[in-house]
Amino acid sequence: MSHYGQYNASGYQVPGSDPRQAQPGTPAGPPQSRPQVAPTPSGYQQGGSRGSPYPQSTPSLQQTQYGQAPQNGYQLQGTPGQEQGYFPLQNQAAMEDQGAMGGLTSQMGGMGLGGDGAAASRPNKKKNRHAYHNIDQPVVSSQAFNQSTGNAEQYVNQDPSQQIGAGNPYAGQQVTPAMNQFPAQASPSFSTGLQSSGGKYANAATPMPAPSGPGVSAQGRVDPEQIPSIPRARDGASQYYLDHIYPTMEQHLPPPGAVSFVAQDQGNSSPKYARLTLNNIPSTSNFLSQTGLPLGLVLQPLAPLQAGERPIPVLDFGELGPPRCSRCRAYINPFMTFRAGGNKLVCNMCTFPNDVIPEYFAPTDPSGVRVDRAQRPELTTGTVEYLVPKEYWAKEPVGLRWLFVIDVSQEAVSKGFLEAFCEGILGALYGEDEDDVDDEKINGETVLEKRRVPIGSKENLERAQMLVMPDIEDPFVPLGSEGLFVDPYKSQSIITSLLAQLPALFSQVKNPEPALLPTLESALSSLSATGGKIVCSLASLPTWGPGMLFLRDKNDLHGIDTEKKLFQTDHPGFKKLAGKMVESGVGIDLFIAAPAGKYMDIATIGHLSAVSGGQTYLYPNYIAPRDSLQLAQEIKHTLTRETGYQALMKVRCSNGLQVSSYHGNFLQHNFGADLEFGVIDADKTVGVMFSYDGKLDSKLDAHFQCALLYTTASGERRVRCTNTVAGVSEGAMESMRFIDQDAVVNIIAKEAATRMIERPLKDVRNALTEKTIDILAGYRKTGSGSHPPGQLVLPENLKEFSMYVLGLMKSRAFKAGHEPSDRRTHTMRLLKSASPLDLSLLLYPRILPLHSLTPESGFPDPNTGHLVVPPTIRASFSRIEEGGAYLVDDGQVCLLWLHAHVSPNLLEDLFGEGKTSLSLLDPMMSSLPVLETHLNAQVRNLLAYWASVRGSRGITVQLARQGLDGSEYEFARLLVEDRNNEAQSYVDWLVNLHRHIQMELSGQRKREDGGGGGMSTMGMESAVAGITSLWTGKEG
Ligand SMILES: [Zn+2]
Repeated sequence: MSHYGQYNASGYQVPGSDPRQAQPGTPAGPPQSRPQVAPTPSGYQQGGSRGSPYPQSTPSLQQTQYGQAPQNGYQLQGTPGQEQGYFPLQNQAAMEDQGAMGGLTSQMGGMGLGGDGAAASRPNKKKNRHAYHNIDQPVVSSQAFNQSTGNAEQYVNQDPSQQIGAGNPYAGQQVTPAMNQFPAQASPSFSTGLQSSGGKYANAATPMPAPSGPGVSAQGRVDPEQIPSIPRARDGASQYYLDHIYPTMEQHLPPPGAVSFVAQDQGNSSPKYARLTLNNIPSTSNFLSQTGLPLGLVLQPLAPLQAGERPIPVLDFGELGPPRCSRCRAYINPFMTFRAGGNKLVCNMCTFPNDVIPEYFAPTDPSGVRVDRAQRPELTTGTVEYLVPKEYWAKEPVGLRWLFVIDVSQEAVSKGFLEAFCEGILGALYGEDEDDVDDEKINGETVLEKRRVPIGSKENLERAQMLVMPDIEDPFVPLGSEGLFVDPYKSQSIITSLLAQLPALFSQVKNPEPALLPTLESALSSLSATGGKIVCSLASLPTWGPGMLFLRDKNDLHGIDTEKKLFQTDHPGFKKLAGKMVESGVGIDLFIAAPAGKYMDIATIGHLSAVSGGQTYLYPNYIAPRDSLQLAQEIKHTLTRETGYQALMKVRCSNGLQVSSYHGNFLQHNFGADLEFGVIDADKTVGVMFSYDGKLDSKLDAHFQCALLYTTASGERRVRCTNTVAGVSEGAMESMRFIDQDAVVNIIAKEAATRMIERPLKDVRNALTEKTIDILAGYRKTGSGSHPPGQLVLPENLKEFSMYVLGLMKSRAFKAGHEPSDRRTHTMRLLKSASPLDLSLLLYPRILPLHSLTPESGFPDPNTGHLVVPPTIRASFSRIEEGGAYLVDDGQVCLLWLHAHVSPNLLEDLFGEGKTSLSLLDPMMSSLPVLETHLNAQVRNLLAYWASVRGSRGITVQLARQGLDGSEYEFARLLVEDRNNEAQSYVDWLVNLHRHIQMELSGQRKREDGGGGGMSTMGMESAVAGITSLWTGKEG
């Protein structure tokens, strides 16, 4: 393993253990978990909150409020076991957790974890063989890597409450700094809570009790309490990163995907932009295949920054453009080195020694470091942007143009979708919220109708004109592209009146059928000169005119080999249009309502956004009163998130490796070509897989550079460079310690989604199972040392991996049983473009009990200012309590599930006076009312917090009342640890995996994916490139 500490190339001071006391020049501080906080209910205002931005609560008073106080506590109505108060069961649960984890801890203790100190003082034996700037800063980081502060157990995958004391950590106690789950480190070096599990405990792993033993059923022996818990892992990491930053050169195991954190770019890009599956890479293909793991990079090049993070430097090298390697064309980055007194620039990708042009020359100091290095962000920062000269332009860059295409067909009118969509646009453009749409944006409207086209407004027009296009066979743009676009602020009154009038106008004019393809063709022609973004609404299947579609999805096509045809399109018109969009630098976001779950041929229509780099928002059973709020939030998100257009992406890597495939939503003309995007936004993620075309030099490190050439919304042509580095080692052992679980899951999900249009779903599921066995068995063969063969051993950094794969197999894309092809296709494309955050939630939801909130929950901690976020629970009905209320969020929908026996007092506190039973609640509600009760404020604050840790979808609340609402089925579907979605429970899944791992270890395994070939020979990419893919198993 190479030592990241040796790079120490950042030139930054390494912050101490308390990031809030960071040195000048380091990022401002920890993630301030400061979502908008609901106003304090006046009745709860306490003296201590003066001057605080947050309402604060005094625990003792709150406790009276919620504890036993008869005048105001929840009177439980004959529900046994709840007499003691509002949250008795939580204590019990906490104790159980503790017991379980205690058991696990002792087991781990028994394995000698933490005791051997093997890595405590790793010699820097390769120090001088590395090419990087070994410069002036004290090398603190390697220490951090080798730390043995001994608090790994404190955090990884364990219940933090253990650290505090018995029972519930909060109930009845004043929150004090001493209660912090992660007290300040004794050591001055950087905290190692996360990566010590890799860096220190070479063989750290989680053994399970033998699942087969005399007299005990297989299932009986795996204690559900002891199996790895995703909620615990997430909650622990969330707490940790409240007051720790992630320094990118010192730590090499990024936080879980669903956790928010502040990264400090020290030369290696933040994991927000790039996550490698292995942060230490085996030197040969053979070593890699022993691990069973894919070598891949998950890229989210425009990922949003978080408060406290430094903006990405934008650098201008004028007409010369940024310095690049003349052989491999890699851009200058912190890992290129200077030789010959500064006259030679050695490429970190291909090792070619370039001549330094006079304009870029600076001498080096005696240690070989450029004297101006500290002033050059391109030599110190992993993620930078370069303004690029004309030779990088495809066309004159202008500010991003937005074109709205609005469905005014009868279905859109009658379902309220037209009105909601118009209101959503108005709210996004002129709403009162703080972050308005970028000034540069220009918009016009096209209305989608049988005969087309009342078109938006010209600045010098008094009012919008409606121009009807009579000929949909040969669409054209009546105003010309310049006439169509206006400044949204100068033309506010015209746009406002147009959007306000549309619903009324078309309630009179009945257009039963929309014609989509010609409308979009004319929209494209109005944008083709400049590029831009189309935002299109659609509420019924376009069955009129050219490009008309029909009902392809019939039940008898499900479950057979040709089902996969439903997941893609062979419609020449849509395919051609998608290609033309990308070519013109145009992308499209689709907002599709499918009232009553009707078929919308998402495979064909959504193909446009999938290829052009856009997004499809699907409202599968659109009901206006319930779903309009989410629609409005998502229109706003589309307009306000960072968006670039006319983009090209290229990924370069070190000699010895090559790109084997890309997975995501983009256009790639042929293998090896750059990826093309009409548009790309902050949420979009691409998976890149690598194979070996030689051997990596373990004396050097492996480098990856993603270059995204794009035009910003403000009209600048730039290249965003994302640089990632990994160590290289001989053998597979070392790599197992630097696995990024979220990246592995992301890459596997993306490749599986790609396979979905090639292979039957059953094969995809089998391949996922086999892959999981390969990886876990690979670990047993290479890394797990001395565990008895009867034990199921999970690698420390892949503890939750099996559960994520199970969640993947239960996802709408891959699950067995009935599922409309629209939902499958939609989920497939979501998987292909999902960020680690979106994917993590999609595969395993977060579930928060509301009936047992402690008084402090949902309010800022008076000492730290951080919102107190209670622990989430496992996604299993066994964790659901009688009379409970739960928020369930998978990043797409957020359910509020209420048990049939939920306390009437809780309902009143949450929903308002008089709402004392489930039947009195409005099933169409989408947000909580603002009430002056403690519970109501808590839940609204927690929802606001969740909204801040979320990807592309808006967050609204959908009711799921036990025994009353259809959304209860969704709730049951989301309990992914249970036996559901036509698949096993988590426990059974582990037992099954264990059995197969044992067979593999004893040479008796029979592969279910058809043996050595797997799916790899079927894959188009692999067929073209002749490259083994993820799915390739070992022969035999
Ligand atoms: Zn090069």
